[in-house]
Amino acid sequence: MLALLVAGPGLALRGGAPPLRSPLPCRRPAALRMMTEVECDVVIVGGGPAGMTCALYTARADHKTVVLDKNPAVGALAITSHIANYPGVDKSMTGAELLDQMRNQACEYGTDYRRAQVFGIDALDSGEKYVYTPDATYKARALVLATGAMGRPPSYKGEDTFLGKGVSYCATCDGALYRDREVVVAGLNQEAVEEAQFLTKFASTVHWITNKDVEPSDEHAQDLLAEPNVKHWSHTRLMSIDGDASGVTGCHVQQRGDETPQELPVDGVFIYVAGCAWDASRTPRSCHASPHSFSPRSSLPLAGLNRSPTSSRRRSTTRTTAASPSTTK
Ligand SMILES: Cc1cc2nc3c(=O)[nH]c(=O)nc-3n(C[C@H](O)[C@H](O)[C@H](O)COP(=O)(O)OP(=O)(O)OC[C@H]3O[C@@H](n4cnc5c(N)ncnc54)[C@H](O)[C@@H]3O)c2cc1C
Repeated sequence: MLALLVAGPGLALRGGAPPLRSPLPCRRPAALRMMTEVECDVVIVGGGPAGMTCALYTARADHKTVVLDKNPAVGALAITSHIANYPGVDKSMTGAELLDQMRNQACEYGTDYRRAQVFGIDALDSGEKYVYTPDATYKARALVLATGAMGRPPSYKGEDTFLGKGVSYCATCDGALYRDREVVVAGLNQEAVEEAQFLTKFASTVHWITNKDVEPSDEHAQDLLAEPNVKHWSHTRLMSIDGDASGVTGCHVQQRGDETPQELPVDGVFIYVAGCAWDASRTPRSCHASPHSFSPRSSLPLAGLNRSPTSSRRRSTTRTTAASPSTTK
């Protein structure tokens, strides 16, 4: 029997991070029991170097292995523009290319790589592990968490207060709850663009907040800007998320050059930013100040792979998010 494994520098189940155990009793909620269930030996959450290395070994050892990766473009290696100091790797190679090779190698041995965001896990006393994604539930004998070091704790004013009550990190999970409502998406990385695009199907207005301009060469971002229900706020910071007992009722944003923040009446705030808020004065202690000062040991606590299947007005989930400018290592 495989043991419960933990991999990856970002798995900060320490220092105040939520404990890795089910927030639920051993019986899964009815909604989850209805979902497609995939059974395997090992589920690995995260498709970065840690996850793919693990998959290489478990798949090669003939354990039926599924890797669930929310986005191959947002991990610490994936965002690196070229590899300068990894043994045996050509200097011209990008992090994304190296990651492609790792993924291909693991898949050649039978790894089932799936693009999916994990929003919850259950580790039952019986030893079974259940891993929840928006499309399916995975049941495994062993679970490996390899979600990296790119997570971030709630750092915007109101973010933690309204997490699960209008603050979300997963449009795929929660987007349908915002039909005909106004939402904010904060962030400029590929994940933010994809998630904002998903939200355009539901929300009446998607306010897209970015701290700088969108690159003209970024086709996906340009497609997003062309959506009729997207309002882009460039050079803008999210200042606070506001609400009451019912959840989020709005937020404050401030555009460069403006003296005071302005209020947006939104019901949902979807956050896809790097380890820290853009406002340096509110930067959490462990955020990277710059790519060059990056230290894996300064990793932030895993925001939590728990879920709250509560009857709250809006369901939401917590997760880690990776986003950062392209960097060199
Ligand atoms: C700027 C920079 C410079 C670096 N320099 C070096 C260096 O010089 N040498 C060196 O050895 N290392 C360096 N590193 C560190 C190295 O890149 C990381 O140690 C390595 O990428 C960590 O691998 P990982 O698999 O643990 O995490 P990551 O590569 O971050 O991968 C995590 C994966 O988990 C996925 N994920 C997260 N949450 C979920 C979820 N809820 N559901 C599904 N999937 C999820 C993400 O999409 C991602 O694909 C550097 C990192 C950075 C950012």
